[in-house]
Amino acid sequence: MAVSIPIVPAAEAAPAQVRDIQHYMRPGVLQLTSLPPLALYVHLPWCLKKCPYCDFNSHEWREVDGAGNALPEARYLDALMADLEAALPLVWGRSVHSIFIGGGTPSLFSPQSIDRLIGDIRARLPLAADCEITLEANPGTFEKNRFHAFRAAGVTRLSVGVQSFNDRHLKALGRVHDRAQALAAVQEAAQAFDTFNLDIMYALPGQTLQELEQDMATALALAPPHISIYHLTIEPNTYFAKFPPAIPPDDDAYAMLDRITEMTGQAGLARYEISAYARPGHACFHNTNYWQFGDYLGLGAGAHSKLSFAHRVVRQTRFRDPRLYMDNALAGRALAQDEDVRRADLPFEYMLNALRLREGFALQDFVERTGLPVTAIAKALDEAERKGLITRDMARVRPTERGFDFLNDLQALFLAD
Ligand code: SF4
Repeated sequence: MAVSIPIVPAAEAAPAQVRDIQHYMRPGVLQLTSLPPLALYVHLPWCLKKCPYCDFNSHEWREVDGAGNALPEARYLDALMADLEAALPLVWGRSVHSIFIGGGTPSLFSPQSIDRLIGDIRARLPLAADCEITLEANPGTFEKNRFHAFRAAGVTRLSVGVQSFNDRHLKALGRVHDRAQALAAVQEAAQAFDTFNLDIMYALPGQTLQELEQDMATALALAPPHISIYHLTIEPNTYFAKFPPAIPPDDDAYAMLDRITEMTGQAGLARYEISAYARPGHACFHNTNYWQFGDYLGLGAGAHSKLSFAHRVVRQTRFRDPRLYMDNALAGRALAQDEDVRRADLPFEYMLNALRLREGFALQDFVERTGLPVTAIAKALDEAERKGLITRDMARVRPTERGFDFLNDLQALFLAD
């Protein structure tokens, strides 16, 4: 599904040692003068069917009880709230600027459950008046019919996992929807929501440049305010890793990306992040907060958090397996990992996010969000500039076109020695 949080395997054997709240407040090597905006990510981990390319923490619905029965929506929501309540002392007094309900396929949850989820969060955390609330949805007919009800439940932005409008490619991707359903779902999303996103993939098995152009033309004709576009990658531990499909060679994929950027630009969508294109005023606040190294509290199976304190930045991971997560969260110990980010790792972690943005980052933001002085990245910035990967002035650093094309190389300059 869309952007979002990397879900990495976590040790599942035992909960992380519960750290006393005092730990987070203790003096440390970092000096953060202010805390960044806080976002909330909620992971709903079930899908109708596992796609062969997917390495997200998603589980087939029929596996829930082995007999294809209903999702344990109520129990999972109870677990999410127990998880949130245990985490509240870490974000005390802070308001939430965005919520992203991701998965998995969150639209499998009923609108009543989503309504309860948003209400339960609201009862425990102050939400900013303009809080963006995104829900990921698949374009199946069954889900499309719920879009208006999700809006009524408080969702402000829908992210539709279209991937392609070509039936042959949808089949190759193992998707359960077809072109007709994708078109109908996007039309419904446009009616129900003021802003929405389409997830599109390219460099698909057997895809030609012309087919990619057709996909983009179809997507753009629907006038989406936002599109996220990803190169199909073959991830370890997926069906495609075991049985790799024939995907277009790199040169063809580069040509496709050039066309995507050209076509979206002509349609009035700016590439504001390496994979995200938006009309003015429709950039995703939630994802931008990740890229600006903002804070996020992740609730749900396998979800990650990144939280800042005056003298440390902390990363946490919840139990990945949904059953294990529910059992442990309900017992008040949802965390499988809870660690301070090492001071030496902060520059790379920051750049992994900030350099994805077309506008790059303000040096002052680097200082505020990592608690490090600018001198910590001076050498790497010099090197990046010498290689033509960034431009900079006294206040800001921006990736160049070349920096965007060689983003991994640019980010690697900031790795700890
Ligand atoms: S629908 Fe999305 S999250 Fe679910 S298996 Fe497919 S790609 Fe993964």
